[in-house]
Amino acid sequence: MPPTREVFWNIQYSFLMYMAATLATVYLAYTIYRRYKLWRLGKPDDCTKDIGERIRVFIRTTIVDLFAHRRFLRDPYAGVMHLLLFWGFAILVFASAVDAVTHFINIHMVGTPYLWFSLLSDVGGILAFVGIAMAAYRRYVQKPEKLPTVRDDGIGMGLIVAILITGYMVEGLRQAATELVQHPDWAIWSPGGLIFAKAFAAMGMSQESLRFWHWLLWWLHAALTVGLIVYVGRVFSKLQHVFVSPVNIFFRSLGPVGVPAPIDIETMDESDTLGVREIKDFTWKQLLDLDSCTNCGRCQDACPAWATDKPLSPRKFVQDLKVHMLEAANQSDNGPSLVGEAPNEDEIWACTTCAACQEVCPVYVEHIVKIIDLRRNLVLEQNKMPETAQLMLRNMQSRGHPWAGIQSLRLRGDWTNDLELKILAPGDTAHTLFWVGCTGALVERNVAATLSMARVLKAAGVDFAVLGEAEACCGDPARRAGYEFQFQILAEENIELLKSYGIQEIITTCPHCYHTLKHEYPGFGGDFRVVHYTQFIADLIGQGKLKLTNGLNTKLTYQDPCYLGRYNGVYQEPRQILEAVPGATLKEMDRSRNTGFCCGGGGGHMWIEEQPGTTKINQMRFEDVLKTGAETVVTACPYCLQMFEESIEHKEMKDSVQAKDLVEVVEAAMKQS
Ligand code: SF4
Ligand code: SF4
Repeated sequence: MPPTREVFWNIQYSFLMYMAATLATVYLAYTIYRRYKLWRLGKPDDCTKDIGERIRVFIRTTIVDLFAHRRFLRDPYAGVMHLLLFWGFAILVFASAVDAVTHFINIHMVGTPYLWFSLLSDVGGILAFVGIAMAAYRRYVQKPEKLPTVRDDGIGMGLIVAILITGYMVEGLRQAATELVQHPDWAIWSPGGLIFAKAFAAMGMSQESLRFWHWLLWWLHAALTVGLIVYVGRVFSKLQHVFVSPVNIFFRSLGPVGVPAPIDIETMDESDTLGVREIKDFTWKQLLDLDSCTNCGRCQDACPAWATDKPLSPRKFVQDLKVHMLEAANQSDNGPSLVGEAPNEDEIWACTTCAACQEVCPVYVEHIVKIIDLRRNLVLEQNKMPETAQLMLRNMQSRGHPWAGIQSLRLRGDWTNDLELKILAPGDTAHTLFWVGCTGALVERNVAATLSMARVLKAAGVDFAVLGEAEACCGDPARRAGYEFQFQILAEENIELLKSYGIQEIITTCPHCYHTLKHEYPGFGGDFRVVHYTQFIADLIGQGKLKLTNGLNTKLTYQDPCYLGRYNGVYQEPRQILEAVPGATLKEMDRSRNTGFCCGGGGGHMWIEEQPGTTKINQMRFEDVLKTGAETVVTACPYCLQMFEESIEHKEMKDSVQAKDLVEVVEAAMKQS
């Protein structure tokens, strides 16, 4: 007789279990529908466009992030744990479905397929069991600070463990009564069940007793399974992420990172809320984000504000907003401002918009735009912002740039005095523009890098022009600080100016300008080809137009600017350039590329004072630099350069470590010794 078994063997009326499971699933679907109605309290969102593209991206994300667990595995323990749970339950659900179908169509698996199917089902349970054991160990023994444990965690895990154990016991009782007696060679294909089968056999249980306990535990196993489904719906348990998170991932932003929707100044009227004041001012997709969050704490681990003991935890921020969402169903339209106790103003202003949180979030929660939306309301409606933010925004209004102090006394075009450059004047035209940015034009240390850039471009024979005095701030600091009106004024004026000169291509040294010009200006009619200088120079080197021949014999490390790396995926070109520098040895920091750590200057924080913490973000990052033993920390961003200069000064290490812009390294490598 070929190996096989009757699916429900000792069980009559198994259809009752399927009826109960169907009812429980309908109930679960209903609770998700009620939640859907809660999300619909939010405003419309255009994330339902581009369905074809969304399907394509979703399939890719499913393969990379779900099947292969790319994002999860960045935290090896938690990643392996989740991988085991995911594949364990995927196999168990598949096996249960096959059992149900074969039973109802009355076709039973036989022979080798049956044996392999038995092994697969058993392995699924073992994977899930090891995964849940790892989860319990993490929550109840390791107890990492980022992982607050609530009653739901214990109940969910308890039910899963009970389902897995009763499942193996049921299998063991069946094996002890059948296979172990008649076909012991079949039993080894269900190794998990076999352990229990041998234990029951060793206990000397009679056939009747085995059958009775099999019947009892089978129904208990079924009841626990149905109970778990009901429980997930009843309390909208964390386990609902199995259903909600894929929807969130499907509707996630497909555009560039951290670009907020513009406020339509033309059509707005007095009754319109500026930014987000109460939970209903978010879009429905932003509310769906809140329910998708599994409270896993990965974002908190990655956050530079949290790491330096600022008041912001992106995990808590999302969970606090979720509490507001749950309360919102019972609120009038004019509920209290969201920004009060939780989240509070300090949290909202602590964010550097570095995108580390979004990079690691396994369910693609988008934190940054929510924070900017809240800042918008604080700034535009409530006039609540730190004093240093006020000063920055006043400077942008009155001077066209955010700098105060000695920089504000300089003329923006002063840096061009020492070089012969094509400075555009009314009536001129140019194809390629070198966009310098406020910091590169006004801050002495950064002016040195700007001059290097201009000299490198000239040496490579690039035909380019600059705006000189006429260049204004691109608007990045105003937009990140929530001052949308000022951003839009600057964007529209700049676009008009650039168009008047017929500019087609913009090269910039500042990743913040790069991101804004490339991704945010198109929304206002500014469609230019924007490249960061690292891309441009890597191209020149590749074409042989720029030759690096001068040996530098130095050990370097490279800081990935957040707005270049995580925001725009430019990781390779800066490294290509450094590798082309003769004699330079690149030593990567432990946190680099997409796990790079912020310098502390983004999100307006070049000007907004950092809140007190155990240390400053730039100083924490400088410790990473020191661990590499590098003599020079190289970056490709004026903000990062400033931040490292400050850290070096703070540590009084000017004699042993230097901070350089990459273009300064390029220029040094071009000169003949
Ligand atoms: S963007 Fe950066 S600073 Fe802001 S919450 Fe996310 S990780 Fe923290
Ligand atoms: S936002 Fe994402 S990374 Fe942060 S706790 Fe929630 S699920 Fe985890």
